[in-house]
Amino acid sequence: MKALVKTAPGIGNIALQEMPEPRPGDADVLIKVAHAAVCATDIHLYSDSFPNSPPFILGHEFSGVVEEVGRSVVKLKPGDRVVSENTPYACGTCKICRTGHPNLCPKKRAMGIHSDGAFAEYVVLPEHLVHILPEGISLLSAAISEPLAVAVHAPLAFLQRRWRKQRAPARCSWWAPMRMCL
Ligand SMILES: [Zn+2]
Ligand SMILES: [Zn+2]
Repeated sequence: MKALVKTAPGIGNIALQEMPEPRPGDADVLIKVAHAAVCATDIHLYSDSFPNSPPFILGHEFSGVVEEVGRSVVKLKPGDRVVSENTPYACGTCKICRTGHPNLCPKKRAMGIHSDGAFAEYVVLPEHLVHILPEGISLLSAAISEPLAVAVHAPLAFLQRRWRKQRAPARCSWWAPMRMCL
């Protein structure tokens, strides 16, 4: 498949390359990318002013359609229109993950920054990160679900800090905004 790859550390080092089509593991979903958005982070990856781990396929804001699912996948099926969270490889078991912040897990390898992303024909992600789009939201609009979730998260995190100061028992998970938006 064709993919836009950060090939090596340093300024630039981005090339459109032929890459092997990824294959889903038992708990994974193979997604055919419909739309992908360019983030300011991608510009920083070009200028090498943001930590990254080449070689990897760029792109972390996207929408797509499920093409194939692993044997243990139950929630998703081929044809589902989806978006995903950007926390692959978060362990799910450490205290940070268990308190709703897998984005901060030391084992996380963000797609399009530290692992393969969506500037490609296909991307593979674990089922638990993938969300089905409701009817009425186009794949084009859905491609910016991730930055929308970030924008929603910012004021919620601010409120959470205020609640903590007031010792109120409130919690706000990083990805709750994406689930709320959908
Ligand atoms: Zn972004
Ligand atoms: Zn963790």
